[in-house]
Amino acid sequence: MKYRLLILFLIGSLAAAAQEPYYDAVFFANSRMSGNYFYSTASYQSPSWIRNMQKNLPVSDSLFFTPGNSLQLQYVNGSAGKWSADVYKQRIRGQDHVREGTALQLKIFIGSTKSGQLPAVQIGFNDSSVSEALLLTGYMQPVPGSNWQNVLIPLSAFKKYAGKQNDDIRSVHFIQNSTDNGQHEIYIDDIELSNALPAGSVARTPKLRKATGFARHVDLVWEPITDTAVKYVKIYRSENGTDFKAVGIQSPMTYRYADYTGVTGKKYYYKITLLDRSYRESSPSEIVQGNTRPMNDDELLTMVQEANFRYYYEGSEKVSGLSRENIPGRHDMIAMGASGFGMLALITGTERKFITRDKSIDRFTQIVNFLEKAETHHGVFPHFMNGPTGKTEPFFGRRDNGGDLVETSFLMQGLLAARAYFNRADPKEKIIRNKITAIWQKIEWDWYRRTADSKYLFWHWSPDQAWIINHKLIGWNETMITYLLAIASPTHGVPGSMYYSGWASQENEAQQYRKGWGQTPDGSMYSNGKTYFGVPLDVGVSNGGPLFFVHYSFLGYDPHALTDKYTNYFKNNRNIALINYRYCMENPGGFAGYSDSCWGLTACDGPYHYSASEPVPWQDEGKMAPTGALASFPYTPEESMKALKNYYYNYGKFLWGEYGFRDAFNLSQNWCSEIYMGLNQAPVTVMIENYRSGLLWKLLMSDPDIQNGLKKIRLP
Ligand code: CA
Repeated sequence: MKYRLLILFLIGSLAAAAQEPYYDAVFFANSRMSGNYFYSTASYQSPSWIRNMQKNLPVSDSLFFTPGNSLQLQYVNGSAGKWSADVYKQRIRGQDHVREGTALQLKIFIGSTKSGQLPAVQIGFNDSSVSEALLLTGYMQPVPGSNWQNVLIPLSAFKKYAGKQNDDIRSVHFIQNSTDNGQHEIYIDDIELSNALPAGSVARTPKLRKATGFARHVDLVWEPITDTAVKYVKIYRSENGTDFKAVGIQSPMTYRYADYTGVTGKKYYYKITLLDRSYRESSPSEIVQGNTRPMNDDELLTMVQEANFRYYYEGSEKVSGLSRENIPGRHDMIAMGASGFGMLALITGTERKFITRDKSIDRFTQIVNFLEKAETHHGVFPHFMNGPTGKTEPFFGRRDNGGDLVETSFLMQGLLAARAYFNRADPKEKIIRNKITAIWQKIEWDWYRRTADSKYLFWHWSPDQAWIINHKLIGWNETMITYLLAIASPTHGVPGSMYYSGWASQENEAQQYRKGWGQTPDGSMYSNGKTYFGVPLDVGVSNGGPLFFVHYSFLGYDPHALTDKYTNYFKNNRNIALINYRYCMENPGGFAGYSDSCWGLTACDGPYHYSASEPVPWQDEGKMAPTGALASFPYTPEESMKALKNYYYNYGKFLWGEYGFRDAFNLSQNWCSEIYMGLNQAPVTVMIENYRSGLLWKLLMSDPDIQNGLKKIRLP
């Protein structure tokens, strides 16, 4: 558990074998949040001054080059003193294949500010050094058809850039360059590293297909863009069909946009255009209309399930049909655990008719055809693979280049549910079932004991470094499903006794392990027995830990069916969710937003890093992941519904997007994640379904191997 979290911080920019599509090196296009821009700092010495909010630059929602906002620089050039506005590169997990730029490019709106009153620009490097300051004026050109100017400075003009690469650049700084004692105001947008402007014509006219209204947003879908010259899809909205305003931009890699208007029961008209890399705009698409409408609770649940489902259907890696680690992020890399969760979301989507059964059969055929040929390590899949090649991708470092038993169990949980779901005589369904059986029977769970008499399963094995990571699986945490499946395997099973001797071990080593990551003796014997916030906890380290512990193992495995000598796991999981809920309501850290409708600490992206939040002050940074409360639906339906409505109705403007709610937000820092994560989207769809119909629980528990495994544990 601890190691799992540690390695998440060690993500390097490893070179991938296959050619990933490139991202542009964008320092700023839009702020996800209104108010102030998190990835900036504004500082000054009096009598100079620069407008700031919590020492960040303010965001303008009314004046921008690309919709919906820009950075406002309102400053006083004091006769003494100085000011600086610094914009930082936002590092997004897996965005490590970036087109190398030769120039610093940005858009500037100077209004009545005279050229002599403008700031100078510097670039900042990772080693904290900064370049010399260059004047903007020599590099400005008006942008035709707008009041903005394009600034294009060759990186070679910065002498200190010599010998460096784009990746060495951390920030772009605007600094005082005059002592006129006046106050001025300029706006800056679209700060990026760009290549020489390509020749050729603007992109062709796009085709907007459909606008579908929901309670407070409209979903736009267009024909997928294949032209690699396209930089953004630009979205225009109108309330009367004639007066349009630009409301947003979208990456051409996504063919969908969620326009959150915040108003129910209103008619909207949309059109889109394409911007090429020089921001030249195509002619607009035809106009498409959509209405927002009131929605009841049931419809809201379906809306959230479908949006999250799309991450795994539309957002999947193209060759394997499996789940990417995060979007945006690596395009070609798939994550095996997230893929297993995604299969459960695909089954849900089939049953709810988001796609037809035929389409679902096609997707699962693609998946099993890929998996049967993919590289495994004693039948065990790695954490990450390259989709186009089917080879192991050591994304978490060189040591992690082999089998990952926990990810494999998450994958297998999805596959076994699919084997139960595709139960018809249809020959295609039969092939899916047979191939899943072959994959399942090849997995050597017993190899991952390391020795024949080991009481524990081991997380990793490497073909050239063997047991170098040496991480034993000891509960309570998210790895319960690994023991349950290892015991259930009909071909390479481990003894049922390992449930108590390994997973729930009472040995000193296991106690120390639990104390180590819980930072408390509570729960070090596996059982806990204390009461937190008025809720008794039978099993759990600390006061239960992050909520993914009660999600990942139980997306398919029904916790009602699992009663051991310590507890029943539906009851225990519900209590862990309730402890989390009551902690967030009490809010000892005093974080903005936390309430009875904003709760659920778990593993998620954050302003500074991906980490697991828990309901204890030393593991709570003020960031909240929607998946925490929403994947807890079966345990806490009322509390989860309150959170869903709060997230959608009050935070939807920044939090709601094409694949459901974004991964996390931190209102104390005015921050919202730019990504959706493969591990966090599917549990929402799947656990809402388990709450509504029990579908995935029924499917997995109907599997004869699962039932045999349950008998082997010899629960009391
Ligand atoms: Ca913008």
